[in-house]
This record gives sequence, structure tokens and C-alpha cells, in this order.
Amino acid sequence: MEEANCPVCGPKAGVDSFLKAPLGKFQFYYVRCSGCGSVFLSPGLKPAELQSFYDEDYYGGEERKFRPGIETLRRLFAQARAHRTSRFFAKPGRILDVGCGQGTFLQSMQEHGWEGYGTELSPRSAARARRAGLSVSVGEIPTDAYPAASFDLITFWQVLEHLPDPAAVMGQVRRLLRSGGVMAVSTPNMESWQATVFGNKWFHLDAPRHLFLFSPRALEKIMAAHGFRLLKLSHFSWEQNPYGWLQSSLNCMGNSVDSLYTMIKDGSSTRNRRLSLAHRGKTCLVTAALLLPSVLLSVAESVLKRGATIEAFFVKD
Ligand SMILES: [Zn+2]
Repeated sequence: MEEANCPVCGPKAGVDSFLKAPLGKFQFYYVRCSGCGSVFLSPGLKPAELQSFYDEDYYGGEERKFRPGIETLRRLFAQARAHRTSRFFAKPGRILDVGCGQGTFLQSMQEHGWEGYGTELSPRSAARARRAGLSVSVGEIPTDAYPAASFDLITFWQVLEHLPDPAAVMGQVRRLLRSGGVMAVSTPNMESWQATVFGNKWFHLDAPRHLFLFSPRALEKIMAAHGFRLLKLSHFSWEQNPYGWLQSSLNCMGNSVDSLYTMIKDGSSTRNRRLSLAHRGKTCLVTAALLLPSVLLSVAESVLKRGATIEAFFVKD
């Protein structure tokens, strides 16, 4: 096996085998860093192999990612996130949303008076964002396109865990943010109850697309190494955490993996068409039964600082 180093702690910290995540005919392996408790895919995948796991089913239908009712809910969540984020600023400025998807959050920030820019790897998602009138480039962070200190705010909503080299990206963010600017992150928490309870059935593990799963202290450590100071860290998310309990429980009941997630996506994907009526019925019944327990568990895990995903705001000193 290749020698794996933690991107946060470097070669000094040891790594141990952690878990095996099967997906169809594939097996993926994660190791855990003894220094910071983070978990990462090792051996890694070649870019072309990784790309094959971001297909039509992942990005949803042509016009939108999810069904209309779910899109409405996502818009409300994005508006709440925009409200939380704006509170760190006396007045609106320029934002770069990395991995902006179809631009729902950027639109909400524009409603708060911000000048919004986005980057997105999926041409299909970027096209949806552009149709909504947003300025979105396809690809990774276009560092050459912007001078240093171009932005007041750079956001990574459920994106850091997908990046092959998070440390290199932090360097780019540091250059693009003005002094006193804010970087906002939400990402799965490897030290959460959900991660412990569900193991390789955990919805937020999402092998092999999630390459690196942070612990809260690892996130603080990598940010501090790049000159960022923590302003706020939250363990509660209406948007991510109750759903994590729900879908992970379904995954443990022998349902096909992430069936509810498939059902709430826009109906045109091939995986969606393949789900049988009985399977859909069972998924709906279990969802109804587990909805309230999932919310209560999400509150409890956040009180004890073991939230399934964490949301953090850092300032560039
Ligand atoms: Zn580490």
C-alpha cells in the first residue's frame, strides 16, 4: 500500500487502517490520522477514476438537482445560511462561493446586497447557475482570474471534503481574501455520533467522493496553519444533520444505498427510475417514523458537540 500522510499533520503523525467502504463492485479504504483524528481515502484515486463517480445521477436532472418541493426547502436553508453569514459583516461585499452548485446560496447572498461569484466543477450545475443570472466559472478556483485580496468572503459549503489537496486550496484562499475577510466552511465531522454509529453506512461518508473527513480540531489546525482564526463553530444543521440520521438508518435496513436521497432528486436520473414501488413505499414509511427521532438526535448530538456536520467561520488575521 502507498505511504499515506495526513494533509493536516504531515508525515510525523502515523495513520492506521480505519474502515472499508464497499460501493457496488468497488472497495474503498479509509485510514485515520493518529494526530488529528481525521480520516482519509487511501489509496487515493486517479482524477479520471474519481470523475467517474460524479455522473448524471450525482448532479440530478437537467433543470434542477432535486424535486421542486425539496428545491424550495433548499432555498429556505440557503437563505438562513446567507443570513447567518451576513451577520459577520457591517456591510455587503464580494463573495466567492467555491463549489456553488446551481447557485442557490449565491442568489441568497445577492439578495443581501452582495456581489457574487462562483466556481463549480459540473458544467451542468454551472449552466443552471448561469441561467439564473449568476457569474459562475467551471473548474477549480481560478486563481489567475482574480488579483490578491479580491474577496471579503469565501465559502465552502460541503466542498472541502471533496478536495484532493485541501492544504493547497487554503493557500489560494488566503491570497484571494482581503485582510479581515472571512472563510466559511461546512463539512462532515468524523468525530460525530453518526460517524461512530453508522461506520461505512454513514450517509456523510459518501465514499469515494469524500476524500478527507475532518475532525473539528483538524479543521482548526489546518486553518491556523494558514493564518486563520476561528470566529464561530456550530454542531447543529437543520439542512444536513437530521437527514444524516434518517438516510444512514435507511442504509442499515438493507435498502439500496441512499434510496431516499435518490428519490428526492429530480426524477430523470437512471437510479431513480430503477427504484421499485415497494422500495419507495418502504422508504416513505420508515422516513415518516424516523423523522422526529432524527431531529431530536440532531439536537442532542449538537449539545454534546458531536454534530454530524460542522459549520465554521474563520477570519484572516
Ligand atoms: Zn492529521
